[in-house]
Amino acid sequence: MDKVEPTGPLSVSDFRGSFAKCLAKMKCLCLFVAVPDALLLALKFVFGSSAVAALDLVDQHSVTRIVSPSGRAVYQVLGSSGKLYTCYASCHFCTCPAFAFSVLRKNNSLMCKHILAMYLSQATGACQELSVSDQQLASILLAEEEEEGLGTMC
Ligand SMILES: [Zn+2]
Repeated sequence: MDKVEPTGPLSVSDFRGSFAKCLAKMKCLCLFVAVPDALLLALKFVFGSSAVAALDLVDQHSVTRIVSPSGRAVYQVLGSSGKLYTCYASCHFCTCPAFAFSVLRKNNSLMCKHILAMYLSQATGACQELSVSDQQLASILLAEEEEEGLGTMC
């Protein structure tokens, strides 16, 4: 296992390389095998406290992939507050307030803990899957839009 040496800020291409490497290694791990310390340190180095919070969400099986017969899929993550957030893997978006503030507005985070939990649960196989009809998936998306007031932003 390579040593992770946090020496300073990462460039975007370094970050992409490190993150892809981390995820690729995690994909090789079985659910019941402990994640090596070097990978945990790398996650903590890149994502700070979000990494710990995201790993907690993965541990609690809080991530559900919702799929419909048309092939569309969204992820729902049960946040620590008990609220459900919808994450879109295809466009890197989460409906939580932290994503709107830290990622979109302030631009000082790469992603929120829910999106990180989504990626980590995919990589470790800890993601639950729920099949719904296309109508049910549309209802989930519309309910989210009404709740978040996104309809008025477009
Ligand atoms: Zn989020």
